[in-house]
Amino acid sequence: MQDNNDRRRGVRCNNIFISLNTYNGYENATDEEQQILPPRPNEPNIDDREKMLAVKFDKPINKNTTKSCKDALNEFASSNCCYGKGVSTNMIINNISNEFAYHYILETCTEWRSVKWTFEPFIGGYIDGPNNGEPPLPWSISCTPSALFMNETKEIPVPHTEQVFQCHNCKARGFVVCSRCKGVKRVRCSKCSGSGWVKKFDAKQKRHDKTSCGGCSGSGKSRCGKCSGSGELICLVCRGRKQLKWFILLTVSFLNNASDYVHRINSIPIELVKGANGKEIFKYSSNMAWPISHSTIKEINVLSSQLIDKHRQTYKSQKILFEKQTIKAVPVSEIDYRFKGESKRFWVYGTQGEVHCPDYPQQHCCGCTIL
Ligand SMILES: [Zn+2]
Ligand SMILES: [Zn+2]
Ligand SMILES: [Zn+2]
Repeated sequence: MQDNNDRRRGVRCNNIFISLNTYNGYENATDEEQQILPPRPNEPNIDDREKMLAVKFDKPINKNTTKSCKDALNEFASSNCCYGKGVSTNMIINNISNEFAYHYILETCTEWRSVKWTFEPFIGGYIDGPNNGEPPLPWSISCTPSALFMNETKEIPVPHTEQVFQCHNCKARGFVVCSRCKGVKRVRCSKCSGSGWVKKFDAKQKRHDKTSCGGCSGSGKSRCGKCSGSGELICLVCRGRKQLKWFILLTVSFLNNASDYVHRINSIPIELVKGANGKEIFKYSSNMAWPISHSTIKEINVLSSQLIDKHRQTYKSQKILFEKQTIKAVPVSEIDYRFKGESKRFWVYGTQGEVHCPDYPQQHCCGCTIL
């Protein structure tokens, strides 16, 4: 069924040249995946900028007081079995600074397309070949993600690219020579290691006698178990069908790529802020993001612009489908206190009032040792 038009090309498969057609938009397709760049560069929509800049920031809330901070520290001590409970009662709080940490997240949902020639055993039936028309261009084939902002891969056979060829692996025999016996059908007997003899203990004579091997009747060779003595194995490439249906496979990958940044004034560890509950004070999504420039926090404006630039650069060979910017305000209170004459510091953070206190004064109240 190989046709002889002048647009033949081909791929090398197991060192055999398969003469496949070439099609507009698929000129470089081989049996290895080739990325196909989107037909147009990514361009943000100019109207989205005004819409995004009209979105107001919600006011963050930090309601921590001396009492709520002491209560939080008490609860923190109770959740650690060895921690002394008297610290919050005997401490002198010098200062509470109620601030916020801001967690900015940029998510870019991208689409990536690649093509390759592939095949499957031909089991008969209709062939959708080039006689049905020109194959559609790689980016004009319709494919939508099941949901945005999640990773997903879909595979689509490109219409009108099917061709049937003889199987290159078995040369259309459906079978290949057995890899164990190399087609000889018999292998060295495992019971006698090929000698034809085995030793047998004679109890009466109390000695070992050489006797003919029962496994191979003394021949040293037994039937090959891999091919059941036929010398051939079914061809795994065509699964015995002798012919292969070749076609171009389009792979569409949807990827969610996220970058984030934490802006904070006090020295609470960034990882704690990222994992904490906070209030979402800003969210905007569109087909492509514009940098935030209307936040009263200068660092957020700068970082929004920098991360968007970074994503544009990183994902320029992919199609940007959707982008989302989110800012979460996490309340963070830094508490300076004195305990037994020593100046110390702890933090209450997140809307659940979590505590970060790495140098809690009474870490081993009952003298126990942590195993
Ligand atoms: Zn065999
Ligand atoms: Zn044997
Ligand atoms: Zn085959």
